[in-house]
Formats: sequence, C-alpha cells, structure tokens
Amino acid sequence: MADFFENLKGNLESLGKTISEKAEVVSKKTEEAVEIQKIKSQIRVMERSNERDFQAIGKSIYEHFQKGKAVDSEFVELCEAIEERDSSIEACKRQVAEIKGLDVCPNCKEHVEPSAVYCSKCGTKLEQESYDEVEFEDEDTKETSEASEETAEETKETAGATAEEE
Ligand SMILES: [Zn+2]
Repeated sequence: MADFFENLKGNLESLGKTISEKAEVVSKKTEEAVEIQKIKSQIRVMERSNERDFQAIGKSIYEHFQKGKAVDSEFVELCEAIEERDSSIEACKRQVAEIKGLDVCPNCKEHVEPSAVYCSKCGTKLEQESYDEVEFEDEDTKETSEASEETAEETKETAGATAEEE
C-alpha cells in the first residue's frame, strides 16, 4: 500500500512537471507571437511610409512633366496616361457637378459642394458659397413648410369630405 502511494506521488509530481513545462511552452509561444506581431506592425508602418514616398516621387515627376520640364523618357508615357485620365476625371466631375448643381471655386474652378466652406482642391475659403448655402437652406425650409401647408389643406378637405358623407 505504501508503494501505491509512493507511485501515486511520483506520478502526480511528474504530471505537475509536464503541466508546468507545457505552460512554459505556451507562454513562450505567446511571447513569440506578440514579438512577431510587433515586428510585423513595424514592417507595415515602414511599408506604408515607402508607399507614401514612392507616391511623392511619382507626383513630383508628374508635376515636372506638367510644367513642361524635361522628364526621363521612360516616364513620359506614364505621365501622358495620367494626364489623359486627369482630364477624363475632370470631365466626369463636371458631369456630376451639372447633375448636382454644384458651385464652382472662384480660384481653381473646381466644383464644390454648396455646403463646402473650403475648396477641396486649393483650399480657398468659399464665403460666397456658404452664403448661397444659407439661401439654399431657406428655400428648402420654405418648400417644406409649403408642403406641410398643402398636407394640412388636404387633411381639411378629407375631413370635409368625411363630414359630408355623414
Ligand atoms: Zn479651389
């Protein structure tokens, strides 16, 4: 019987050891995962910064091209493609502006929302536009109140009709 307890004690001890070893492995793995996540997020930050700087390089080359300055021949085709898309974008924006009845920035002629305070392209303050917006809102309010008056009249008529029926 004493042997049995001795064995049990031994078994429990080795079980406890195994568990703590396993816990150590798990915590090591967790540490590793955290470390990997940290490094990965550093990579992401640097990659994003590179993307941004690549874009800046491209933009400065395109700006050179737009100003008629000499651009490396291998970039000319790309710049021309960008320029073509830019004018298509302009045309699309004009289309949208016509549909929505947007205002035009007095400085860069960019179409802006009637509610815009600053031009989204050049940053010019759009005081006139915001004034227009107030007028615009007033019209809206008027229309709304007219509409509710109409509704009120309709209700009256309906009430009258109901009264006559009775
Ligand atoms: Zn502008």
